Amino acid sequence: MSFIDADKRKFFNEVKEKSGQPIELCYQCQKCASGCIATGFADYYPNEIIRLVQLGQKERVLSSSSIWICSSCETCGVRCPNGINTAEVMDTLKEMAIAAGMVKEKNINLFHNTFLNSVRSYGRVYEMGMMVTYKIKSGDMFSDIPVGMEMFRKGKMPVLPHRIKAIGKIKDIFNNTTR
Ligand code: SF4
Ligand code: SF4
Repeated sequence: MSFIDADKRKFFNEVKEKSGQPIELCYQCQKCASGCIATGFADYYPNEIIRLVQLGQKERVLSSSSIWICSSCETCGVRCPNGINTAEVMDTLKEMAIAAGMVKEKNINLFHNTFLNSVRSYGRVYEMGMMVTYKIKSGDMFSDIPVGMEMFRKGKMPVLPHRIKAIGKIKDIFNNTTR
């Protein structure tokens, strides 16, 4: 990609390098967007995020909701004729948004971290503990009570946590991958 603005070039190169994806090859065929489950909720389609990265639009990309609404289903990457795994790009942009203090969807980031902390502690998700922690920290105490009650009734939400035997290996993974 050729840029006049050095900051725009720097942003593009950083995203390309960190994600490991050939972002410059995107020619806007929109195969990614046509299979994306998140387009109805996000502010940009996945092909638009890729285009904004190509154009070095750091502020618009890092402050978007799209990078948080993306569920990493990887449908876009499977469909892309140029081998661009947009889910990897989205993950990279999430990390860059956190580092830049530009997280738009704060509760999604909170849920993400609460989930990972639960896995780090027990080697699996402790649903009850994760839900209580998330609810307290987000201040959104009552919105999911019917779903939570149904899960509890069906035995999907045990009161006490269960730690897996190989918890040391899980902690090694976190220690080796946490940046
Ligand atoms: S499918 Fe690939 S080439 Fe097509 S718009 Fe999406 S990222 Fe670009
Ligand atoms: S990985 Fe994200 S951007 Fe790609 S199709 Fe799934 S939800 Fe959409």
